[in-house]
Amino acid sequence: RAVITPSAQPDALYDAPDRANKQISATGASLANWSPSSWKDREALQQPNYVDQAELEVALSEIANRPPLVFAGEVRGLQAQLANAAAGNAFVLFGGDCAESFKEFNTNHIRDTYRVLLQMSVVLMYGAGVPVVKLGRMAGQFAKPRSEDLETIDGVSLPSYRGDNINSSEFTEEARRPDPSRLIRAYDQSCSTLNLLRAFSSGGYASMQRVTKWNLDFMEGEKEGAEYRELADRVDAALNFMAACGIDEDHPTMKSTDFYTAHEALHLGYEEQLTRLDSTTEEFYGCSAHFLWCGERTRQPDGAHMEYFRGVSNPIGIKISDKSDGDSVVSLVKSLNPENVPGRITLISRMGAAKLREHLPRLITAVEDAGLNVLWVSDPMHGNTIKTENGFKTRPFERVRDEIMAFFEVHEQMGTHPGGVHLEMTGKNVTECTGGTATVTEGDLELRYETECDPRLNASQALELAFLMAKELGE
Ligand code: PEP
Ligand code: MN
Repeated sequence: RAVITPSAQPDALYDAPDRANKQISATGASLANWSPSSWKDREALQQPNYVDQAELEVALSEIANRPPLVFAGEVRGLQAQLANAAAGNAFVLFGGDCAESFKEFNTNHIRDTYRVLLQMSVVLMYGAGVPVVKLGRMAGQFAKPRSEDLETIDGVSLPSYRGDNINSSEFTEEARRPDPSRLIRAYDQSCSTLNLLRAFSSGGYASMQRVTKWNLDFMEGEKEGAEYRELADRVDAALNFMAACGIDEDHPTMKSTDFYTAHEALHLGYEEQLTRLDSTTEEFYGCSAHFLWCGERTRQPDGAHMEYFRGVSNPIGIKISDKSDGDSVVSLVKSLNPENVPGRITLISRMGAAKLREHLPRLITAVEDAGLNVLWVSDPMHGNTIKTENGFKTRPFERVRDEIMAFFEVHEQMGTHPGGVHLEMTGKNVTECTGGTATVTEGDLELRYETECDPRLNASQALELAFLMAKELGE
């Protein structure tokens, strides 16, 4: 029977009458030894070292009393859409900041990122001829894994910055001290962000008429610009045709959209408090976001993160690199999804184009041979990070594009479906990644380099990538 730690969860969430009889999760995992806190019996990597445990307990119990950010029914809706994508009948667009921050939190930032994601999704929908599932790395994407626990500058060593829900990026002892009250602030920011996203999605902002007011000025005069303009004109013509058929601006599909949230479920104390029992199915859901993923650094089979993911019924992403071996990936997928439920597992590859060509085929073969149902998504960002001479961490647009194209090519050769992309991007006009038609040079990086963590594609680079993908998927 499921072991429930009463102190970790308010009683009101446990009112399902025969919950204790639930021994198997929706995905077939045994819940006999699982609880929202059973991760604590395993080694949890990448967790902050809080100085004051009592302070942490206060913050966590406050979060335990707050409402879930997402609801189980919505999560199941997303899982059905992901299952559809895994079967080749939809394409998934993931996008948002590497790390959300307190400093960048404002309405326009949310609006602009949302708007570009919708524009990209229309372009992709037209190109691929299938529905596009929209997932924001938003409303909860705070905690960051780091390669070093300490950062040393001029002989001074301080704890690494681990995301705004943990500490602050400023290089002072006070700023780098993990502060548990930041978890509450991050929850509140996620809540306001999600409120706005929900309003945009159903309140008219997402209407096709608005979304297709393209701004392609940035490519004016370029050869690529003319090509994209032509594609945009064809999208407009298709909409006019639909309107003539009676699917006009008042039609529900033209007025609203589904939009889901996702983040790396890294901080397990926080995730535990937002893990709630769904009263209709008596299953546990991570209610901090619809989709949760496990990063490259925390997917040890016997580690705390895998233990946590095993018992929640959300769709789960697993990042994989060129160093992953087929057998371990297969066994991870099986342990998270014993019943092979479609839409439950997304494998997100991040390797760089050359390594992808070399290593993705063997991983696909292993998964296919084991008969596993997974959705394949490309993260073309994390295998393409370089440091410039002038000291900026950047990603050349051309390398990001090449990895996506390699991903499409490999899937075509293997007869599998390239199910989607996972991008670090923003609707703002930042200069963090180099290249693109509206070229950002290495010298430009210092102009608007605003990220707290990894470099993001700006609005025009992200939209340009959507045009390139649409072209490729349409062929
Ligand atoms: C990320 O998605 O921001 C990230 C840290 O990715 P990975 O775990 O793949 O390095
Ligand atoms: Mn990142």
